[in-house]
Amino acid sequence: MYRTAVFPGSFDPFTVGHESLVIRGLNLFDKIIIAVGINSEKHGFMPVEKRIELIKTVFKDSPRVEIKTYTNLTVDFCKENGATHILRGVRNSGDYEYEHSIAEVNRLMQPEIETVFLLALPEYTSLSSSIAREIIHYKRDARKFLPQGIDFEYFFGYSINS
Ligand code: ADP
Repeated sequence: MYRTAVFPGSFDPFTVGHESLVIRGLNLFDKIIIAVGINSEKHGFMPVEKRIELIKTVFKDSPRVEIKTYTNLTVDFCKENGATHILRGVRNSGDYEYEHSIAEVNRLMQPEIETVFLLALPEYTSLSSSIAREIIHYKRDARKFLPQGIDFEYFFGYSINS
């Protein structure tokens, strides 16, 4: 059976923690759709177009990874895209509580769509997009938080001297 999972999130910005989850997810699924949720009421740190562009550069050589945006319910987006699973990450007990309630609601809405959780790797348990945003805000070296090869000048408006 061909398995497609949707990995939904804000990815503002996409971090090495997210990247690691997708790479590990590719061992479980045939295709992963990274779905950037658009919230018209919430103004993000990065414009959605740049978030997408950044993720596309990370997975430019991965034909089994697709990147899309969505504005509807995650489970409806899954159905529209033939996905049977939702992929999410758990870093700590706070994530667990939060993810648990989202997964329960999703199950109520679409019982046939299964949420699969991967525990964050130990080196990424303290990493979040908000931490990456903070470092970037102060124009410091955030390379260890973001996937390799990101052009800081282009995406964040400053360059890092190495
Ligand atoms: P959301 O706004 O939906 O929480 P995020 O972009 O913050 O979206 O995160 C998307 C998913 O990635 C969530 O399941 C989150 O728990 C997971 N995640 C975030 N950071 C990490 C990390 N460092 N390691 C593993 N999973 C992570």
